[in-house]
Amino acid sequence: MTLDSKILAELKDKLLLEKKRVEEELNRIAKPTTSAGDFSTNFSEIGTNEDENASEVEEYTDNLALEATLEKQLKEILEALEKMEAGTYGKCENCGTDIQLERLKAYPAAKNCIHC
Ligand SMILES: [Zn+2]
Repeated sequence: MTLDSKILAELKDKLLLEKKRVEEELNRIAKPTTSAGDFSTNFSEIGTNEDENASEVEEYTDNLALEATLEKQLKEILEALEKMEAGTYGKCENCGTDIQLERLKAYPAAKNCIHC
């Protein structure tokens, strides 16, 4: 199966939109570091008393988990975009077969086919 350029362009648009959304969310809770696609979670100082410290830590822990998830998504999106450039997009990284189009449409950053 070869993806035709129209479908490829559609999937690329989806990826770029998704990239923007993920980056916006990341920027809300974290700061980009010097390495591309890597973010470090913000730690906000609300105050210095015990209650305030506890909610700072709680918020930080939540954001840390969210940041890790978003960063993973962003990396997958960037990898998918790179593969589009390289012409290797749409192949399962595990078994090398073509990833089903339905799957790519639902999740354009998919790395593996439905069987893997
Ligand atoms: Zn596979």
